[in-house]
Parts: sequence; structure tokens; C-alpha cells
Amino acid sequence: MTDPSFSDLGAADPTTEPFWQACAERRLVLQRCNACGTFQHYPRPFCLTCQSDDTAWTPAGGAGTVYSVATMRLPVVDDLPPPYQIALVDLDEGPRLLTTIDGGAARIGDRVTVGWRERAGGLPPVPVFRVER
Ligand SMILES: [Zn+2]
Repeated sequence: MTDPSFSDLGAADPTTEPFWQACAERRLVLQRCNACGTFQHYPRPFCLTCQSDDTAWTPAGGAGTVYSVATMRLPVVDDLPPPYQIALVDLDEGPRLLTTIDGGAARIGDRVTVGWRERAGGLPPVPVFRVER
């Protein structure tokens, strides 16, 4: 069996393929610029800080702080029934990630850690966050 291609994983862009490959292994990774050291997300073909195209995929620690949060009360996808929380999480490495909160009421400023939400149809799991209590 060969490794799944980015299209098999539901990624629309080869730039994002390494991110989704890592998600398939339940690893959170970020692009880090080898020229200036800046982390960025979402993935791009070059660094937004210094425009270098010398970037590398780096494991993320998986911890962050809730920047903003809202409760979703309308169904959007079949495998994520409302209500659930949508959040912007500031990862400790710097990038801000749009995600969902797993298992409870998050508030702005809460510390959170990454987990994974499985998806139907053979798609890779997506990173979600849980409040540290
Ligand atoms: Zn850079």
C-alpha cells in the first residue's frame, strides 16, 4: 500500500499536504521559517515575515491560550452536532488557529491542549482543543 496522496486526505493544495499527513498521524505541525525562525499557520509557500521560501515542518507543543470563543448552535457538518464551541487559539509557538473546543466550556484566556476529532469518509482527524483544568 502506498501513502495516501493529499487529495486522498481531503487537502486541496500541495502546500498543505504535510500538515494533513501529520494530522493523519495525530501530530500537530507548524511551518517554521529557517531564515528568520517565525512560525506560521496556515501553511504557505513562503514566510510571511521575511518572504523566504526556506520553511520546514516543525512539531508543535500542542498547547495554547484561547483568544476568542463562540458557541455554534447550527449544524454545519454531520459529524459535529451542535452545540459546540468554535475558538481562536493562540498556540505557544505564535500562530493563531481556528479550531473547536472538545468537551466543555472554554473562556477567553483559558489554557488549552490539543486533541483530535475523528472525521468520516477516511479524512484525517482535525486538531481540536480541550481546556486544561
Ligand atoms: Zn522568515
